[in-house]
Amino acid sequence: MVKVYFDKDASLDPLRGKTMAVIGYGSQGHAQAQNMRDSGLDVILGLRPEGRSWSRAERDGFEVYPIPEAAERGDVIFMLIPDMVQPEVYRKSIEPHLWEGKVLDFAHGFNIHFKQIIPPKDVDVVMVAPKSPGLRLRETYLNGFGVPALMAVYQDHSGRAKETALAISKALGCTRAGVLETTFTDETESDLIGEQTVLVGGLIELIKKGFEVLVESGYPLELAYFEACNEAKLIMDLIYERGFLGMLRAVSDTAKYGGLTVGPKVIDERVKENMRRVVRRVQSGEFAREWIEEHKTGEKRLKALMEEIAGHEIEKVGRFIRRTSGLEK
Ligand code: NAD
Ligand code: MG
Repeated sequence: MVKVYFDKDASLDPLRGKTMAVIGYGSQGHAQAQNMRDSGLDVILGLRPEGRSWSRAERDGFEVYPIPEAAERGDVIFMLIPDMVQPEVYRKSIEPHLWEGKVLDFAHGFNIHFKQIIPPKDVDVVMVAPKSPGLRLRETYLNGFGVPALMAVYQDHSGRAKETALAISKALGCTRAGVLETTFTDETESDLIGEQTVLVGGLIELIKKGFEVLVESGYPLELAYFEACNEAKLIMDLIYERGFLGMLRAVSDTAKYGGLTVGPKVIDERVKENMRRVVRRVQSGEFAREWIEEHKTGEKRLKALMEEIAGHEIEKVGRFIRRTSGLEK
């Protein structure tokens, strides 16, 4: 079993009197900066002077500096900009300002694990990866709770890297919900495998193919949308709150019997074999190499795939239904 840490296991002491320099004010950056400030820490931001986040961060009451200056002033530097832009920003604006005793913090292990960022030996390198989008990290903190997080130490120069990572977790509110100790390797690989097989990749394809088969079989688009997409959320909410059994108890006996007997025939052993291939590609670094190359060459394939999704019938009927039902403006 992995070790789980809670509020009583963590102290903010390792961060007292120090400056948190949060680089980036997007999904994670805005939530982490605000939670840490509300936890009583000294937080400054490092942003691009020409970027859109600058005025937003100032409006939210933060001291904002260009990235090199924030890195210079920061004792703990939070890398909260997109993974693909981190290596260049790190080399140009952060590395020159890292010296002994500083701490480099990540919210995802990608660049360290795949060696796109190689920090000097005399700094601590830690990760606190909240298991939620930034908005939810902020929202649950404001409600007096937190979201779970993964925590890891990659490099422990000071001998106190773990206490520091726990302190960050506590300041983010994550120790209220539980912080799991892991490694950069396990976090990075399981995150990529999970988003490809289940969360982003798996769910989109399951819903899309389910929708397509209903439409091909002559059912109206709107019915197909409700069946394959809209209700998926209601079922997922039940699973999230009560587990498989709780969800099964809440649906009809017909749905239970049909689902349990037919489900394994739809998502069959071949799907599992495909998933195992995903695991091998992630572990070998093949996926990371492909994605880094795609980013460097302008993300043309990603843009084309996004356009293809935008043009899919499920998006058109979905927008119509979300508007008429008041979900989307
Ligand atoms: P994001 O895309 O929301 O970050 C955007 C911000 O990065 C911008 O507001 C800007 O401040 C800055 N930025 C963008 N391009 C830049 C550039 N070229 N140079 C300098 N600054 C630039 O990022 P995010 O989704 O918050 O991800 C940050 C980190 O958190 C990543 O390592 C990601 O894997 C991790 N993470 C994200 C989530 C999530 O739900 N979004 C969850 C857990 C971990
Ligand atoms: Mg992920």
